[in-house]
Amino acid sequence: MQPHSATGSPTPDDGSTALDHVRNMVSACIQCGTCTGSCPNALEMDLTPRKMWRLVILERLADVMASRTFILCSACYTCTLRCPRGLPLTTAMETLKGIAFTRREARHRNSRLFYEKFMQTVRHHGRLHEMAFMTGYFTAMKNPLTPLRFAPLGMKLMGKGKVEMGFGKSAATHLDALFDKVAEIERAAAAPLEKESHA
Ligand code: SF4
Ligand code: SF4
Repeated sequence: MQPHSATGSPTPDDGSTALDHVRNMVSACIQCGTCTGSCPNALEMDLTPRKMWRLVILERLADVMASRTFILCSACYTCTLRCPRGLPLTTAMETLKGIAFTRREARHRNSRLFYEKFMQTVRHHGRLHEMAFMTGYFTAMKNPLTPLRFAPLGMKLMGKGKVEMGFGKSAATHLDALFDKVAEIERAAAAPLEKESHA
């Protein structure tokens, strides 16, 4: 992981080229703040979307990667629809998430495992299977306290019949080709980032 900047200097930190793609997406930002004012999750974010785009433009990779803003983006597309410059902000947030996961940033390990296990479950079952998903996630987390944290929510969902018990049947063969193709595309896109993170 890149060292976190403590100086507040706009000088690019090492490895900032990982942000090139996102910087191109938001380079026309005029810092009007409409994205922040429109975002339903902004109050929970450590950096507002407007600040995030400013850091991206300044190539502050370490500061961007240290933030949870792109993790908390729920891809509602409101900012994208309202940005007066017509910038693809939701895609930019998704791309930041991809960069963080590709770089295996320790700060975002829990979220990365959550996404990975979610997608593995969908691939295996053809849809989300809650028990299989959470079992895979808890196992990957290797922390016996994690299930306790989710217990109240699990009980509530079970009480409403929202959680299917058992582990379901595999539907892997139907989705394998699709998942393999996406993995191939993502590997090609991530190759420069991986090379950079090991430089
Ligand atoms: S709404 Fe668009 S132009 Fe305004 S701060 Fe956000 S990204 Fe920049
Ligand atoms: S797409 Fe993400 S960043 Fe944009 S308004 Fe929705 S939650 Fe906020």
